[in-house]
Amino acid sequence: MTVVPLRSRPLQAVPDPVGSPPGDEPERLSALHAYGLLDSVAESAYEDMVRLAATVCDTPAAAIALLDRDRVWFKARLGIEPAELPRSLSICSQLIGQAQADRLLLIDDIADDPRFAALDLTLEGGKPLRFYAGAPLLSPDGHRLGTICVLDTAPRVLRAAQRDGLAALARQIQHLFELRRYALEQRRLLSEREAFARQLESAQADLQRRHEQLQHSASHDALTGLLNRAALTQLQDGPEALLRLGRGAYTLMLIDVDHFKRVNDRHGHLLGDRALRAVADSVAASIREGDMAVRYGGEEFLVVLPGTRLATAAEVGERIRQRVARSALPFALTVSIGVAGGEPGRDAPEQVFDRADQALYRAKAAGRDRLVVDDS
Ligand code: GH3
Ligand code: MG
Ligand code: MG
Repeated sequence: MTVVPLRSRPLQAVPDPVGSPPGDEPERLSALHAYGLLDSVAESAYEDMVRLAATVCDTPAAAIALLDRDRVWFKARLGIEPAELPRSLSICSQLIGQAQADRLLLIDDIADDPRFAALDLTLEGGKPLRFYAGAPLLSPDGHRLGTICVLDTAPRVLRAAQRDGLAALARQIQHLFELRRYALEQRRLLSEREAFARQLESAQADLQRRHEQLQHSASHDALTGLLNRAALTQLQDGPEALLRLGRGAYTLMLIDVDHFKRVNDRHGHLLGDRALRAVADSVAASIREGDMAVRYGGEEFLVVLPGTRLATAAEVGERIRQRVARSALPFALTVSIGVAGGEPGRDAPEQVFDRADQALYRAKAAGRDRLVVDDS
């Protein structure tokens, strides 16, 4: 941890003070990584701890060293040049192999210690390192994460109060670590919750879309896109239709394709279907907003024109008839139309419908391809 090699030697020539890592190394590393400390930016709380350690022990150098897989990385450092060291060059690594996890590691004179003398370590300024004292930093389940250590270029012996102080600082740093891990965990839970909320929102939007699709397909005819008969029943029962019809005179128009059986027989069902779509398009293109076009039977259409007098409705019907006749189809197509008007309070809608049906019958009887207005 603490120090710079005096001169660069090949790493393999340097004795490894650590020995091989203990069997729980993967668990220890994953415990360390859970704090998100490695390679994090400098933080004043940790810088303060390092200054306090140097002050308490009266040393020119101190560090919070974290034992990564192959390196010792300094979360905070004072009087030490490099930001990290290979683990093989660090005294802190010794901690990993130490029998008692919570004991201080004290090396009063490194020159006398055969394990470390050969490392040739220096402090900032280039003077050889002679003194090391480190307190381990542990995770709650006893994994050795790193050390808080103090260093000097002169051999020395820490007083009992200084050793106690270093151990107390180690406990405070462990508290800082735990707070950090808790904050990280909270942030992770929060972002998980946000992701879940977003998923929920999109599922709700999806459901709403499907609901609307279902509603649309329940009330619309798949072939022509017009309202279907079920929708008409609903409108008859619902207040919306009554309100619309209640505004004054209205007109019902019944449209029936002429000789449609023959169209099917001669040109096939597919072209028959195309003809039905052409009629529906002609209807849709001729009515205005607020009018309702319904595919009432196989080749029969009902158009409800609220607030529309008979004469106007007849013009609309005539436009429909002409549009159908101009349809781009490989055969001639015509429709017959019956129109009848009613007034709320005076006429029952069923009777208006019957009169439109009779007008349609007369249009058929008179030779088809025409519009007949009910005159009763
Ligand atoms: P008219 O001029 O008297 O109305 O004669 P028509 O042949 O049109 O009358 P009819 O009611 O006998 O025939 C209607 C035909 O419409 C019979 C049926 O096969 C056809 N038809 C009903 N629904 C569909 C459909 O969805 N697609 C197709 N292609 N044909 C349909
Ligand atoms: Mg018919
Ligand atoms: Mg017909």
